Amino acid sequence: MYDRYKREINYLRISVTDRCNLRCRYCMPEEGVRLLRHEDILTFDEIVKFTESAVSMGIWKVRITGGEPLVRKGITELVGMLAGIKGIKDLSMSTNGTLLKNFAGELRKAGLQRVNISLDTTDPEQFAYITRGGNVADVIEGISAAKKAGLLPVKINCVVRESREEEDAKLVREFCARNNLEIRYIHQMDLVSGHFTTVEGGSGGNCPLCNRLRLTSNGMLKPCLFSDIGFNIREISYREAIEKAVEMKPASGMVNHKDNFYNIGG
Ligand code: SF4
Repeated sequence: MYDRYKREINYLRISVTDRCNLRCRYCMPEEGVRLLRHEDILTFDEIVKFTESAVSMGIWKVRITGGEPLVRKGITELVGMLAGIKGIKDLSMSTNGTLLKNFAGELRKAGLQRVNISLDTTDPEQFAYITRGGNVADVIEGISAAKKAGLLPVKINCVVRESREEEDAKLVREFCARNNLEIRYIHQMDLVSGHFTTVEGGSGGNCPLCNRLRLTSNGMLKPCLFSDIGFNIREISYREAIEKAVEMKPASGMVNHKDNFYNIGG
């Protein structure tokens, strides 16, 4: 399927939860967040049936995101259900990696193909500061477990304030070089002010080539990360929601006053 700007839309990012076991300063506010009620979160059945519709219309690349997807109870079962959908050629997950050592093997068996893991520094104190209490050793163990399980390639998402020359980013770059990992630099974004740049080493934020739709954990189909537009898949048919989202996809991102990174999955 193509949008008004002749961009092929073939990539669906699915946020399966707004919850996370970390509290990264650029994502979660100090005062914490008002979490969605259980009944507001899409069921596995809804996610799978929606994705089947999306695949029948041209989606073949699916990314599972959060919050932190590994805190969603039964996540391996959901991965297995999605992996069973004929037509998905690329099934991946974005994770903070802290729980991955416990899940990598079973996720691979369930059909997950690869992972993107967040790592903004390898300095334990800095990591604990950025994540408000996380342990970088858990992420490093998660990366090893992902490689061992065959969730390849493992790509590292490194959030930077201004540039890849920041000390923390240099540490991550050296770590990736030593461990044969692909690194991408994601400049801090601001949904409200509409500040964002293209992901260095990736395709995110490159509006003229944008190929993605996003499904939030409470069932809003978003044509664009930096837009207030969204269609509730519990109110209209899945097909109609997808058609409307593709039709209403903006040429480029503007601002988003409705969502937060932790419920839209970046
Ligand atoms: S800002 Fe919107 S149009 Fe641009 S790359 Fe992101 S999702 Fe695509």
